[in-house]
Amino acid sequence: MLKNNGKKTAVCVSTAAVLCLLMLLVAVRHRGAQVRAESTGPEDTRSLPGAEGGEASAQGGGQKGFSAYFGKLSRGRRAAEKPTARSSGYAGDTAPPPAEDIRPDDLFIAVKTTKKFHQSRLNLLLDTWISRSKQQTYIFTDGEDEELKMKIGSHAINTNCSAAHSRQALSCKMAVEYDKFIELGKKWFCHVDDDNYVNVRALLKQLSQYQHTQDVYIGKPSLDRPIEATERLGDNKMKPVNFWFATGGAGFCVSRGLALKMSPWASGGHFMNTAEKIRLPDDCTVGYIIESVLGVSLIRSNLFHSHLENLQQVSRSEIHKQITLSYGMFENKSNIINLKGAFPVEEDPSRFKSVHCLVYPDTPWCPPQVAL
Ligand code: UDP
Ligand code: MN
Repeated sequence: MLKNNGKKTAVCVSTAAVLCLLMLLVAVRHRGAQVRAESTGPEDTRSLPGAEGGEASAQGGGQKGFSAYFGKLSRGRRAAEKPTARSSGYAGDTAPPPAEDIRPDDLFIAVKTTKKFHQSRLNLLLDTWISRSKQQTYIFTDGEDEELKMKIGSHAINTNCSAAHSRQALSCKMAVEYDKFIELGKKWFCHVDDDNYVNVRALLKQLSQYQHTQDVYIGKPSLDRPIEATERLGDNKMKPVNFWFATGGAGFCVSRGLALKMSPWASGGHFMNTAEKIRLPDDCTVGYIIESVLGVSLIRSNLFHSHLENLQQVSRSEIHKQITLSYGMFENKSNIINLKGAFPVEEDPSRFKSVHCLVYPDTPWCPPQVAL
């Protein structure tokens, strides 16, 4: 009897143990599937071509109503405001999905130059990033150049502005850039100097986080505080104004929605008048119209770079993710990015050729293997 009971107990215990093991196995497999589902979610979005280059269709803001859209928009803004989050890897799992699917053709990129820099600066850009983005790039200069016309045709625009580096001459060029953008009907207005490299793929990725119909002004200030200016009102009165502006030397972009609102202060001859009112250069005038007049805040992005910052600080492994780069002088020293790259510094002092090989490794003149 006891023996029999013992046998029964042993059978019961082993059956229970097998059952427990089975249940544990099922539970572990279920959790595994859950973890996979959670982690593949954002990665799936990342692997969409649109997430990288803005070319695939993405959910528009319309279907989910305004609150969802504004949520998306402010997440985008927060991401742009946090340089470390944006520039560390693929902006982490918090990368917002694109707010709008934009294509290269939606961009208008204005390059400001002057005749004396056509050889020394512009040719380098034409040989590098502009060669891949001719359709959306326009050169704003101050003199006729048959060679330039041969290269880029009607995209070379003689503004007939003075060739001086004066406030008025620079504002004159910005006014022509603005009018051309309005005329062409593109979604995004981006301005750069002739010492900027533009990574159009990175630019598209950033801009696709906003809608062009919203008020967007994005770039990087060169000052650590708002600029203090005095606005000249009529009858000899002056009014102090403080505002942030994105430095033109790092490049900046304005959405069409916002650009249209700027029209009374920026279109036709108005831009020059506005610049005169505050007696500041072209990029400050853009900041004044947007921040002081229209009350829209600049979105800072650490992906735009001018030579007014120490370019050695751009992380080598992040160079291909930057929207703009530059080269030049900073505190009386040569200021270039730190990139080993495809060409030595003697052959490629600006580092733009090496950057170009990093961004477009299939370029015929790039060495087959680029050592990082
Ligand atoms: N520039 C110009 N006219 C001039 C001198 C410069 O339009 O007489 C342009 C130049 O091509 C560049 C921008 O203004 O796009 C800034 O010039 P630069 O880089 O020489 O000076 P920075 O302000 O960056 O020190
Ligand atoms: Mn410069």
